[in-house]
Amino acid sequence: MDGLSSLLVHAHDVLVIGAGAAGLRAALEARTAGLDVAIVCKTLLGKAHTVTARGPLDARADWKAHFRDVMRAGRYLADWRMVKTLATEAEDRVAELERWGAVLDPTGERNGLEVLRTLQQHASHTGIHVYMEHTITRLLGDRNGVTGAFGIRRDNGGFVAFEAKAVVLATGGAGRAFEISSSSWECTGDGQALAYRLGAALVDPELVQFHPLGVVWPPSTRGRCVAGDVAALRNANGERFVADAPDYVVARAIKGEVDAGRGSPHGGVYLGEMEVGPTAHAVLGGIRVDPETQESRVRGLFAAGECMGGLHGSHRFGENELVASLVFGRRAGLHAGEHAKKKTKKKTAEREELAALAREALAPFDRDEGENPFEVREDLGAVMQAYCGVVRDEAGLHACIEDIARLREALANVKVTGTRAYNAGWQEAFDLESLLLVAEATTRGALARRESRGGHARAEAPEEDPELAKVSWIARLGEGGRMELEAVPLPALPEDIQAVLLEEELE
Ligand SMILES: Cc1cc2nc3c(=O)[nH]c(=O)nc-3n(C[C@H](O)[C@H](O)[C@H](O)COP(=O)(O)OP(=O)(O)OC[C@H]3O[C@@H](n4cnc5c(N)ncnc54)[C@H](O)[C@@H]3O)c2cc1C
Repeated sequence: MDGLSSLLVHAHDVLVIGAGAAGLRAALEARTAGLDVAIVCKTLLGKAHTVTARGPLDARADWKAHFRDVMRAGRYLADWRMVKTLATEAEDRVAELERWGAVLDPTGERNGLEVLRTLQQHASHTGIHVYMEHTITRLLGDRNGVTGAFGIRRDNGGFVAFEAKAVVLATGGAGRAFEISSSSWECTGDGQALAYRLGAALVDPELVQFHPLGVVWPPSTRGRCVAGDVAALRNANGERFVADAPDYVVARAIKGEVDAGRGSPHGGVYLGEMEVGPTAHAVLGGIRVDPETQESRVRGLFAAGECMGGLHGSHRFGENELVASLVFGRRAGLHAGEHAKKKTKKKTAEREELAALAREALAPFDRDEGENPFEVREDLGAVMQAYCGVVRDEAGLHACIEDIARLREALANVKVTGTRAYNAGWQEAFDLESLLLVAEATTRGALARRESRGGHARAEAPEEDPELAKVSWIARLGEGGRMELEAVPLPALPEDIQAVLLEEELE
């Protein structure tokens, strides 16, 4: 049986995968341009990870100051063209959101919720098709162009295919690759993996932001970020050990205390009664896109939001992700719409290809014996935490790559039981496929970036290497299915942009 008895096929001009701030903003833009737009999400509308974001949205009249702050915080690894776009368009996007009814809190409480609520409310009357509780597991097409997507309905386990002229990936981050993470369960790097498999590149996947104040104990709130005065942190001897500093400096200082045997019983330090330590907070690398159009190397495939790379460099400055999701979400929707308008017809999904994808997806049900996907996931989290965390070293990164290969073999042999409806083990297996891919790219990028820059630290190379400031590392699918890594030069800074950066030095 090919498993396609329950298959539903939908056709739309633009398919947006992800219903966080970036996906909703993209869908709105494409719909406003008159296109037939669909949005797909793993969970229910309104529950995307965006909802957890709190801080104020960074939007300033003085774009140059904003530009400088982002470039400087990312230690000049960001693509300046994207940073300029962010800095010059942020104010408009926030003003627009307020016109649509958003009441943003300047002190930063619950702004993620307000952004999401406003976008949803605004979108709800526009005729965007919404498919909730759908997990996209593959993109259709090839490296020359995307033609749609294939996935699974979580509620009944049925298969679904989308035919589309353009696809926008807005699937969020991949923080769940780490044992301790502040990201929602949906942040499993699916967009990065979907794009990579079709032929798109991932840029600087090694760049991950670790928030220093993640709860380590009690376990009920493990990973959650807390607000607090870092100067009040104490080690096991009751000593203060760090002053106010960028997140990554504090995160490294905490790791230093733990490694020196001065940590708390569960591997953190004390913030009052709580035990806290670094938690994987955001991925800064991601799908490589054209800085103007948000299109990846694959024609018709666009990306925005946390799954996109190139914007932040090696550290995310302040509250820039929510606003970046609006800026680049809008751009992705705009250009996806333009692309779709130029295409006269959609490609029909091939039945044999869908049947093969369905058979592959159902394989874990057919095994008499096999690995438990939850255990594989736990193992991956521990491996990434141990070897690819706040400070990385050569031997650990090699061990990490070996472990990831071992876990990939385990994934090829996972077994799931029960029915297909709301089958958590089955869904876990799909998440794992993406997580393992992102984990490998992160590790290989970390090996290649033999320097310490912003949030990325290598034990054997504690300083910045000026030569490595000139390149991004690109991961892509190579011959024989191997991951290839290549250094590509960052775009040169034109004179007027250099002058903007220089103003900072003079001030
Ligand atoms: C605790 C915390 C606090 C934060 N606070 C701030 C802050 O104050 N300010 C700020 O700017 N940023 C903050 N961030 C970062 C910010 O919240 C995120 O980077 C941003 O919300 C990401 O938005 P997004 O639209 O890219 O993705 P998300 O909001 O993560 O949405 C992803 C969407 O994709 C869908 N999806 C994923 N995979 C699939 C698939 N395979 N098939 C179908 N759908 C899929 C999901 O269901 C979801 O709808 C914070 C992050 C954390 C963890």
